[in-house]
Parts: sequence; C-alpha cells; structure tokens
Amino acid sequence: MNSINIDCRQQKPPIRTEPPTKALAESLPKATQSHDHPAKPNNNTNASLFFVGTATTILEWEGFRLMTDPNFLHAGDHVHLGPGVTGTRQTNPAVNLEDLPHIDAVLLSHYHADHFDEKVEESLRRDLPIITTPHAKDHLANKGGDSFTNVQALDFWDSLRVNFTTSKQSTDSNLKPQIQITGMPGTHVPPGPLAVANDLLGAVPPTNGWIVELGYTSPSSSDSSSSVDSDKGYRIYISGDTLMFDDIHRIPEKYSSHTGKPIDLMLIHLGGTTIPSPKVPILMVTMDAKQGIEMMRLIGADVTIPIHYDDYDVFLSPLSDFKKAVSEAGLDKKVVYLDRGEEYRFEVKK
Ligand SMILES: [Zn+2]
Repeated sequence: MNSINIDCRQQKPPIRTEPPTKALAESLPKATQSHDHPAKPNNNTNASLFFVGTATTILEWEGFRLMTDPNFLHAGDHVHLGPGVTGTRQTNPAVNLEDLPHIDAVLLSHYHADHFDEKVEESLRRDLPIITTPHAKDHLANKGGDSFTNVQALDFWDSLRVNFTTSKQSTDSNLKPQIQITGMPGTHVPPGPLAVANDLLGAVPPTNGWIVELGYTSPSSSDSSSSVDSDKGYRIYISGDTLMFDDIHRIPEKYSSHTGKPIDLMLIHLGGTTIPSPKVPILMVTMDAKQGIEMMRLIGADVTIPIHYDDYDVFLSPLSDFKKAVSEAGLDKKVVYLDRGEEYRFEVKK
C-alpha cells in the first residue's frame, strides 16, 4: 500500500496568496450547532466534521484537517457541469476560502466544478496533498508550471496510508493516529448505453466514493497493514456523486459488521442532481431520497449525514424529501441533519 507523510506542524495555509493578505486563521469558525450521536450521546468525542456546504466538509482529528470536495462559490455564481450544462449556486459556504485555517489534505471525489470550482483550482497551494480519482489527477497534475505537485490517485478499492505528525499532545503517547483512505466504486451516470456514450464524450467525470478509516496504532505494532478493527477507531463511508448501482453492493461485502469492519458514519451525496437544467430535467446523476434510503439500508452505517442536497439549482430532490422518507422508513435515529456551519462530533476509539 502506498503512503504519504504529512507534517501538520507546519500549519500551511490552504491557499497560495503571496504575500499573505491576512494572518492564517487558527481554527474553523465556531460551529453554529454541535450535533452528537442521535441515539447514544457520547462525552468522549475527539473528532468533528464541519459542514461547509455542497459536498465540502472538514474533518478534524488529532490536529489533522482533511477537507472534502472544496467548493467555495457563493449564491448566484455559476458552474459549468458538462457540455451545455450549468448550475447556479443557491447558498453560501459556511466559511470563505481565504478564511480557512491550515488544511493538511484534500479528498476530492471527482473533477466537477461543484466539487472543485475554478477559484479553488486557481487558489489552492500547489503542494497541498490531494487524494482523488485517476481522471482528476490527470487534470490537476498536468497543468505545466501550474500543476499540483502532490496528487495521489486511487482507483476503486485502492488504499493509501496517510501518516501525519502533529504538535497536538496525545493523551497516550504510545498510540499514533493514522488514516487510511480507500477508493470506493461510484458512477455519476446510469450504467448502460448512456454511460458508454458519456465515456466517449467525457461529459460527466468518473467519480469515487471513499472509506476513510481513522485509528491508532502503537509504535511497537508490526502490523502495518492494520486497518481499523471493529471495536476501535472510526470508519467513514463517503458516497461521492454516485447513483445506486451494482458495484455499490460490493461495499458491504467488505465493510459491515459481518466482516468486522462496520461503518460508523456515512456521508451521502443526495440532491437528485438532474441535468441538463432544472427546466429540462432529463437525466438524474446523483441520488434522490428514494436511492438515499436504499443506500442507507444497504450500507447499514451507524449514523448517516446527508450532504450535497440544496446548494445548486440542478439539485431537484430537496432535503425535505429525504427527511420524509427517513421518517417513513423508521430511520430517524440513524440520521443527523447538518446545516452549513454546523458540526457533528464523534469518538475515534483507542
Ligand atoms: Zn455534485
């Protein structure tokens, strides 16, 4: 398994403005609301997930910050989502790009402008580690003198170990925090002739989902292949902009309580994104409420948080549809709803 090493002590700003126009923020803005487990409140939380908007979240744990799908456009801004397809942002991010604290790595599900907008692409510092699809790497690492220099591509089922050093004093110096990221299958267009045509046209980009495993290893442990075991650590599944399709069924074959690798948290990209436009809704390319419930039943995560649900006008399935479907399915105690600027706190077990 490949690995990368990140030194969080350098506290590098995410953007490359030279000279810096303002001092680097020390932290994210205080969450407007902090959510706990919906059924089992926990006083030992040591990690958080801050919802910025769209599919942009910031995971903080042991001094390490991982940002997903950075999109910092504002209400009224437009994105190009493929030939003849544009979207208009309806919301503002909970924090502006230039107000972010240090970010140690980016996890990018696919190279699409509502997940990695033009301003983000222009602004991010070039050595910021980006973990993404081979397709996105092709774009980001081949921009001549303006290339990103630390892009890691993961295919479905490929894993990457992220070793990091922080200045945060661990309460138990014998344990070292570590992250493992594995690409999960995803498809942004329905399989079949449309997908074949799309592959030829390169219209809608290929997308990954992710398993992000947070856990502690002891330096004496020779088991460098260890992923998180069932009663320790924390395992997150991020769907990416996928629809339900056959390969998703392979995820619980590997990650479930039956295999000793249960999923603690699922971030599910909803919205029922429909292209080419809200006025001509022909093709749905992300899950709607119905597929979201199917996904919840299939993955069996302990907690689900919907994201990517109302930020663009091409998102035609509102969060209220999903909420209603969750209640009807009797799954209320399995879901946490985050508005932009809110956080979910959880415990990575030692
Ligand atoms: Zn999207």
